[in-house]
Amino acid sequence: MSKKTRVRFAPSPTGPLHVGGVRTALYNYLFAKQYGGDFILRIEDTDSTRFVPGAEQYIQETFDWLELPFDESPAKGGKYGPYRQSERKEIYKEYVQKLLGEGKAYLAFDTPEQLEAKRNETPNFQYDASTRLQMRNSLTLPAEEVKQLIDNGTQYVVRIKIEPGTDITVTDLIRGEVVINSSVLDDKVIYKSADELPTYHLANVVDDHLMEITHVIRGEEWLPSAPLHVWLYRSFGWNDTMPQFAHLPLLLKPEGNGKLSKRDGDRLGFPVFPLEWKDPQSGETSSGYRESGYLPEAVVNFLALLGWNPGTEQEIFSLDELVQAFSFDRCSKSGAKFDIEKARWFNHKYIQEMSNDALAKLFEPVLTEKMLPFDKKYTASVIGLVKERANFVKDLWDQASFFFISPASYDEKTVKKRWKAETPAQLEELVYVLKSLDMFSSEYVEKAVKQWIEDKNYHLGNIMNAFRLAVVGESKGPHMFDIAALIGKQETIDRINRAIKEISL
Ligand code: GLU
Repeated sequence: MSKKTRVRFAPSPTGPLHVGGVRTALYNYLFAKQYGGDFILRIEDTDSTRFVPGAEQYIQETFDWLELPFDESPAKGGKYGPYRQSERKEIYKEYVQKLLGEGKAYLAFDTPEQLEAKRNETPNFQYDASTRLQMRNSLTLPAEEVKQLIDNGTQYVVRIKIEPGTDITVTDLIRGEVVINSSVLDDKVIYKSADELPTYHLANVVDDHLMEITHVIRGEEWLPSAPLHVWLYRSFGWNDTMPQFAHLPLLLKPEGNGKLSKRDGDRLGFPVFPLEWKDPQSGETSSGYRESGYLPEAVVNFLALLGWNPGTEQEIFSLDELVQAFSFDRCSKSGAKFDIEKARWFNHKYIQEMSNDALAKLFEPVLTEKMLPFDKKYTASVIGLVKERANFVKDLWDQASFFFISPASYDEKTVKKRWKAETPAQLEELVYVLKSLDMFSSEYVEKAVKQWIEDKNYHLGNIMNAFRLAVVGESKGPHMFDIAALIGKQETIDRINRAIKEISL
């Protein structure tokens, strides 16, 4: 029986999650679900100096919002827990001991000053097979002294002993086989006595093994660490359970040169974080996709196509369709240019697909904030008329305000252009026509008004433009008779009468 697919998203809670991280998590999710597997959240919080309060909760809230649920996580638990590395300290110690016991790692007592001096004296100094015997470590010091140093409480680190001259193959599902000779690697620190914590590399590998992770899908910035991770796997004798790797391409600046950063978002006015984030230290607030009015489905669809393509023209994908279609074969090796216009386009498309009732619910807070009453049915009908012009729910107000409040003023330019000497008299006639109607559906009003215009031989455009100016306040909005029908007979008539009075002054 083949193993169950298990993937993990393993962020460090050092601040708000970047959209690139969200995309990494999404690809993990899509891949796991395609194979009926598990999607796990593991919080990599072993670097206490970089820990930021609220960051873990932010991560959880992001995936709640995007509706990409974890099968196992700190919040949900699971049988491979704990899922926070800070709660797994004892586990790592045991594995560090194992490597030390087998001579695959060693203790190093070099102080920062000694290391600095060495770096100054040897250009391109690297702590590795060629230099380790010149250093202060358990390979060079007598066993007695090592024991004494430990007993005295001298701080040390544990370094992995990389044997030179062997090829390390990283099999990457996007990049193919990447072969690195172990001679170029250094003896990385895997544990620090000072805080009794492992470094990222050790904790990451041990947890991937213990959590039975089958595929490590992460950003390409981790590709340089992969040979060391493979080496650690081999050192533990876990060759048979080594996960497969997939290193995802970078998200690039809109101009295509270099990695997308928070500064690009600030510079170009778009969010680079899924949710709004208030920095607990500086108090600075960064905008989020959620607060900017993006729908979670649109964000998912947009991110899915940043670095992956289906090989067809299809762009709109439901989450299920993405799960079916996703494959590493179609992930690009080169970076994906970030294009916020595309994100807006997706949002527009998803707004069109959403039911008017659902949009009305999302629009309710906008009305409440303006102290306007909320009538779900009326609001849904309004939205049905204007949504094709909206990219965001909040745009709906600009498109539809006149359905909720009568115009406070009349656009000057339009008045100049559309309000003629004969307009007031004609609109008075229009009021008379409207008053006489016993039904007020869009079609019925349209027929009657057009009949009157024809009978009187008036100019259709002039009448309609003035009609719109009176009801809307400017020359915008959907089909005029749809507006009239929706706001109703009395309101339409009142607005025309008011315009006659106010504009003619
Ligand atoms: N903690 C690393 C990060 O912050 C995890 C990298 C990995 O997925 O192995 O992205």
